[in-house]
Amino acid sequence: MTYLPAAARYESMPYVRCGRSGLRLPKISLGLWQNFGESSTLVNNRALLRTAFDLGITHFDLANNYGPPPGSAELTFGKILKDDLLPYRDELVISTKAGYLMWPGPYGDWGSRKYLLSSLDQSLKRMALDYVDIFYSHRPDPQTPMEETMGALDTAVRSGKALYAGISNYNAEQTRQACRILRELGTPCLIHQPRYNLMDRWVENGLLRVIEEEGIGCIVFSPLAQGLLTNRYLEGTPADSRIGSGSAFLKPEQLTEKKLRQSRALNEIALARGQSLAQFAISWIFRQPQVTTVLIGASKPQQIKELCLSVGQSLPTEEELAQIQKIFAEG
Ligand code: NDP
Repeated sequence: MTYLPAAARYESMPYVRCGRSGLRLPKISLGLWQNFGESSTLVNNRALLRTAFDLGITHFDLANNYGPPPGSAELTFGKILKDDLLPYRDELVISTKAGYLMWPGPYGDWGSRKYLLSSLDQSLKRMALDYVDIFYSHRPDPQTPMEETMGALDTAVRSGKALYAGISNYNAEQTRQACRILRELGTPCLIHQPRYNLMDRWVENGLLRVIEEEGIGCIVFSPLAQGLLTNRYLEGTPADSRIGSGSAFLKPEQLTEKKLRQSRALNEIALARGQSLAQFAISWIFRQPQVTTVLIGASKPQQIKELCLSVGQSLPTEEELAQIQKIFAEG
């Protein structure tokens, strides 16, 4: 059936300026790292993307290697885009990345100009797009001069195959350097994509300050620690969960007793303030002014609906922040 997006889709989602750029991103964005590969169903994938767009999520984040297998998430996205979302292309911000292993041999990994630019061409082909909105270096490459990797991002933008350049998983010092090189090339860095959640706060140790000083945006990934910061595992491991379905990226051994204890204690705070644990985990991130948008993953449309409600909910109080500190100090 022809998809007609919700007429009210721009009424409740706030859009936040991405650093000093002219681009505004929804407070919640959707990533296609998991759940869009070959073992997912097109019916569910279509429902996830439609639900997101209907709720005002205009930003979809991909990478060359998302699947599994690598490349399949871009193929799925390309198909649904063609069927449903292409009339709305100018209402969408679509990103992709290169930086992790994608094809065999010396040119299918890391940060060379050779790899980044051929990978971007492959991604565009898989998604049947003329351009992506944001092209990222997925991780810093210690063996390649930063000038070469940033030069490839600059070329991607100048060639019209990407509108903006971004970096992911760069530390504070590498971010400073990347921003300087991109500025000198005349293609300012738009955005940084680091991991950030209640269980992994490394960005607070310098990176957020650099992001603010450089005037770039920040899109944080795995805000729910891949599901550990939700009610998913509080009563056991459901078969349809990321762990239960055998994901290579979240193994049963990562669900430690300590993490479960922390999640249960956080869940008590969330329930007391009328939120689900997942919503509380998102509200906790919203307190950081440097964060432009929170990049969620989802396996069910209902999860996206629930997370979008956190946009209108209150930020944690000082007292709740102190409770959180105590939970993690106790271990
Ligand atoms: P999250 O931490 O948001 O985890 C998503 C998982 O949490 C879902 O698959 C689901 O688990 C569970 N979940 C979501 N909403 C709810 C809810 N309301 N109630 C209960 N459980 C819920 O994010 P991801 O780890 O998936 O990462 C998000 C995106 O970040 C990726 O798609 C990708 O775009 C990006 N990313 C970037 C990386 C980088 O290096 N730049 C690395 C990793 C991710 P379940 O499947 O069990 O239902």
